Amino acid sequence: MKVIRFPKCNYNCIFCFEDKEALAEPIISIKDNEKLLITGGEPFCSSKLKSVLEECKRKKAKLKIQTNASILYSEGNVKYLEKFKDMIEEIIIGFHSHEPRIYAEITQTNFYDKVIQALHNLSKSKLNITVNHTLIKQNYLYALDFLKFIKEKFPRIKKIYMTFVYPSGNALQNVEDVMPKISDTKDIVKNCIMYSKDNGLQLEFISCGIPGYPLCFLRSYFSIEELNKICQHVIQKGNNALDFNNVKFKICEGCTFNDTCAGVPQQYVDIYGETEFKNN
Ligand code: SF4
Repeated sequence: MKVIRFPKCNYNCIFCFEDKEALAEPIISIKDNEKLLITGGEPFCSSKLKSVLEECKRKKAKLKIQTNASILYSEGNVKYLEKFKDMIEEIIIGFHSHEPRIYAEITQTNFYDKVIQALHNLSKSKLNITVNHTLIKQNYLYALDFLKFIKEKFPRIKKIYMTFVYPSGNALQNVEDVMPKISDTKDIVKNCIMYSKDNGLQLEFISCGIPGYPLCFLRSYFSIEELNKICQHVIQKGNNALDFNNVKFKICEGCTFNDTCAGVPQQYVDIYGETEFKNN
């Protein structure tokens, strides 16, 4: 899948992994029937997005769009997007807290109400919507409440991607403030998986090309088959810890997931050490 990244963003999330200053404006060339992920930054901040959508339509491309959704508080913008509904497979909304105070703290915006309005607009549309929720120190304790909020307020949203903060961009600058200890999160993640199973939500871990959640922390709770199913986006043969400047441990040699796990970031080990992995 080709990725088109628009660098501009109207947010400045404290856990953002993009090095936005290093991102150049994309050179757009779209082939017939191509599959594309349009992301950022925030794609809806780009004046080029409309022409890209029109070009995608001409080329019969299929799209996924990642957005913070703030610009979709306008019903007109959602109606415009609906014109492309046959080629947009998924709109993935980065929504990292249902608590207004935490949302403001982690996104450094006052756009919470706009995003809630956008979620209502999108829920009424014919577009396929999913939510992406990154676990960081500020929100992980509330992850189960977050799922309950989505189920109750936005029942049309059935699929939720959960990611673990990755130390790059702002997240690297703020690494000690935003990166939780994985063992502190594992019971909450377990509860999220069980709640999703019992309540018809499809919870998946996504890696966006970067490592997700090390499955060794969950293997006492779920079968390997269950974990592979939930983590289908992370578990891809060919992931290589070295590609990400990540590390593996002695215990990884005997781990079922060793071939497909990308390990954990060096910065994680610098903060929390290796002990958690010895006891896993
Ligand atoms: S390979 Fe290592 S880090 Fe990855 S899941 Fe297994 S034990 Fe954990």
